[in-house]
Amino acid sequence: MNIYINDLSKYYKNKKALDHITLHLSSGIYGLIGPNGAGKTTFLSILCGLIKNDSGTIEIDEVKFLSDDFYHVFGYVPQSPALYVDLTCNEFLEYICALKSIDKNQIDHTLKLVNLYDQKYIKIKKLSGGMKQRLSIAQAIINDPQILLLDEPTTGLDPIERLRLKNLLRNLSKNKIIIISTHIIQDMDHLAKSLIFFKNGQLLDFKSPQELILSL
Ligand code: ADP
Ligand code: ADP
Repeated sequence: MNIYINDLSKYYKNKKALDHITLHLSSGIYGLIGPNGAGKTTFLSILCGLIKNDSGTIEIDEVKFLSDDFYHVFGYVPQSPALYVDLTCNEFLEYICALKSIDKNQIDHTLKLVNLYDQKYIKIKKLSGGMKQRLSIAQAIINDPQILLLDEPTTGLDPIERLRLKNLLRNLSKNKIIIISTHIIQDMDHLAKSLIFFKNGQLLDFKSPQELILSL
């Protein structure tokens, strides 16, 4: 699986949010690193089709793009999880399955993957922040997408939940492209195979955090 991003740019009115991004991604975990306002959310939103780029192209191989299988290619975990807190975990995932035409049989397996099976019939408003984050990941992976995008998933998580999240993503990463945005470089230690550095909408040409720090 490969994603080829070529000369991608995006403006919000006159504000340039992405500036001629060219990038090749293959299977594995990528850390998308950059300060607030760097363009990370914009980049992920364009990749999964939530907003449109102004110029440039995105090509994905090994994926036959039929109009109705879009949901089965991408999983997206937004920065602020959109959960219906009065539903139980099971009701919420049933709703997601109905929305995306996914077999409800996937629910138990997915809840086990994100370690929430014991919470299946618990209302979402009773869950901790880390559990809500894992439920948000569950809705994104329930159809086993080949590309998984996560926008600042570690925000607000305690150290134990951060480790749980890392383990979960590591286990999921076989044959998938996973992109995780964060402004905390350390969150990508022993997790990401490569880091992508963004600043002011531009892709910085650094191979490692050390190189980045030395340049400051
Ligand atoms: P992030 O935490 O990823 O930087 P923001 O807090 O910047 O996200 O953005 C939150 C929401 O506000 C997003 O929906 C984004 O599109 C919108 N937004 C961000 N900056 C602006 C802006 N300058 N004008 C209008 N909307 C904005
Ligand atoms: P990040 O996720 O790295 O914080 P964003 O992609 O949210 O960065 O934002 C990139 C730039 O685009 C920022 O300067 C932000 O203020 C601006 N921006 C984001 N969304 C909007 C929007 N809906 N309208 C106007 N400006 C926006």
